[in-house]
Amino acid sequence: MNILDTNNLTIDFGGFIAINNVDFALKKGEKHAIIGPNGAGKTTFFNLITGHLPPTKGDVKFDGNPITGLAPHKIVKLGLARSFQRINIFPRMTVFENIQTALIARDNKSFKLFVPAAAQNRQETEELLALVGLHGEALEIAGELSYGKQKQLELAISLAENPSVLLLDEPTAGMSPQETAVAIALVDDVAKSRELTLLFTEHDMSVVFGISDRISVLHHGEIIASGSPDEVRNNSEVRRVYLGESDDAAT
Ligand code: ADP
Ligand code: MG
Repeated sequence: MNILDTNNLTIDFGGFIAINNVDFALKKGEKHAIIGPNGAGKTTFFNLITGHLPPTKGDVKFDGNPITGLAPHKIVKLGLARSFQRINIFPRMTVFENIQTALIARDNKSFKLFVPAAAQNRQETEELLALVGLHGEALEIAGELSYGKQKQLELAISLAENPSVLLLDEPTAGMSPQETAVAIALVDDVAKSRELTLLFTEHDMSVVFGISDRISVLHHGEIIASGSPDEVRNNSEVRRVYLGESDDAAT
């Protein structure tokens, strides 16, 4: 059963077609990677799914219902959350406050009279801190955390809405090999414990082929292959346009 579908999804940036008639299906519970050379359209595809860009043509369905044209925050409320390629936290707040703020925003209560701010959503904040392994850093200033830990915090923030599907755009970009291993193990754990469906882009092919149930390959805005890691690895067109190319294409 599909939790997310796109149909003929297309965006035309003034004559440049960045996503071209993409039919895509995300199955409930799977870990699905979108790979493709730099500029292939991966981030644009995510932006179309999450309502950050309006498609020129085509539609997006979430759990069978059309979500094309909905505002991003409405799509998040339905259970489709994402992280961005760039870090997206409040750098001057503590780690605790970052998560707490996300929960308060979710509940739409900017300020509760007679309840000290620090007490709001305390228990849930602590659960999320524990889930992403940041319990020991709760009171640290978010902007002073290591890059890897900032990404862990970002993950906690994107889980605040209790999503069923999580889109991660290059979750390990800029990470050391150790940070990458920690981040991927964490995402894997969280996906299991929260029963998440994961759609992610990733430049590290060992990560992609190591954790994905399915992989789709985007090239010049079109999906040229979609299948199990083995099917994609052995696909001759994929090898020609992507996997067989030199490293500079693999970003
Ligand atoms: P990827 O994430 O796969 O590296 P992107 O989705 O960021 O690729 O970009 C795909 C192509 O679309 C690139 O050629 C990029 O320059 C172009 N593009 C992305 N966003 C816009 C925009 N808002 N206006 C015009 N062109 C864009
Ligand atoms: Mg990108």
